[in-house]
Amino acid sequence: MKFYSTNSPNQFVDLKEAVLRSLPADNGLYMPEKIEPLPDAFWEGWREKSLSELGFEIARHLFQDGVEESALRQIVEDSINFAAPVVKLDGQTSVLELFHGPTLAFKDFGARFMARLMGWLTRDDEAMLTVLVATSGDTGGAVASAFHHVEGTRVIILYPKGKVSGLQEKQLTTLGGNITALEIEGTFDDCQRMVKSAFLDRELSTQLNLTSANSINISRLVPQSFYYFDAVRQLPEGEEAVFVTPSGNFGNLTAGILAAKLGLPVKQFIAATNKNDVVPRYLATGDYVPRPSESTISNAMDVGAPSNFVRLLELSDREHEQMKFWLKGYAFGDKETRTAIKEIKDTAGYLMDPHGAVGWLAAKEWHSENPGEGHAIVLETAHPAKFIDVMDEELGEGETPIPDRLAILEGAEKVAQLLPADEEIFKSWLKEALS
Ligand SMILES: *Cc1c(COP(=O)(O)O)cnc(C)c1O
Repeated sequence: MKFYSTNSPNQFVDLKEAVLRSLPADNGLYMPEKIEPLPDAFWEGWREKSLSELGFEIARHLFQDGVEESALRQIVEDSINFAAPVVKLDGQTSVLELFHGPTLAFKDFGARFMARLMGWLTRDDEAMLTVLVATSGDTGGAVASAFHHVEGTRVIILYPKGKVSGLQEKQLTTLGGNITALEIEGTFDDCQRMVKSAFLDRELSTQLNLTSANSINISRLVPQSFYYFDAVRQLPEGEEAVFVTPSGNFGNLTAGILAAKLGLPVKQFIAATNKNDVVPRYLATGDYVPRPSESTISNAMDVGAPSNFVRLLELSDREHEQMKFWLKGYAFGDKETRTAIKEIKDTAGYLMDPHGAVGWLAAKEWHSENPGEGHAIVLETAHPAKFIDVMDEELGEGETPIPDRLAILEGAEKVAQLLPADEEIFKSWLKEALS
């Protein structure tokens, strides 16, 4: 399988380059050269297949001979080693729980797969692969956990001092081993600028074999398509799936449309956003107007210029009408979201985090416009305990249980090196610490 950049549709790179380079030099995004529907053999008894078996067959179909079959099977089995159960809320609505991975958010699917794939792609390279990642919170934790103990790799995480939650900081700073956390005396933007400066330094970049684990990496998208198949498989036969995806950078939703292009039967996709509603507005008006993001209680969706919008366009043949065919869009404010968290608990006895609650509101709205049609599957993108402050405010303290995996972090010791927000100091640090 070859990949092209959305800005240079006639130039192709192989899987290794697309995955390790992450972002093409022309600032486009990598896309698979072609997306053919899955073959008949895939569909034989597919409802009986496990999540990781489905994942293996989908990845093999997409990558073709890019990865040896036995290695690919191992990569999928090692990375997707937790379930994504569909839990029914009522006769026309279910939740797809994507928070059963190590950092309790759906980002574990993409990050774990990417880590193992990168490890395999560089297995014969002499230099160790050095992954740099700047994080404002959740991504860093998922990436750190994903690369922990992956041979031939090491991860340097930059996070802004005092600007991530206590729990998020623990997820970044307590692993040790091949994971190093740098606490930067600055903002997230400073962290990003420092990472970029290291990449732009050709000599350093080559010497340390630098790569990036940011969310637009094509290898994070592929495994996110697996659970859409697994969810349809879990619906009673004959029920039509309406997927509701709480969205920020729109990677998760792009993976859903990829699944549909591979042949998965889906009645409708729904993009649910908070007040950062650039895409719902685009769907309504045909005008794409990015703007600075605004803070909300569903903060992983506070994105004003969604990075995967270009991919959504590409999958829609760059046509507004075609995107409207795939997608409906709804946006909700914090006040409605808070009320929804209470209502879901009262009506279905279910604890839904603020991101999932935005999705639930969109499902309700869609059903009121399309009564009796389809079964809504709301993607629950994180465990509610990750947003314990909001949950406690709405439901009362002690009502949202904290899973052991999170609770255990409270006692773990933070290990991070403090650095000023200075590119030259960061680059010298890299040279000294790593070579
Ligand atoms: C990252 C994230 C999202 C947004 O996903 P995108 O793929 O960027 O649209 C939604 N919810 C949670 C909890 C997240 O961590």
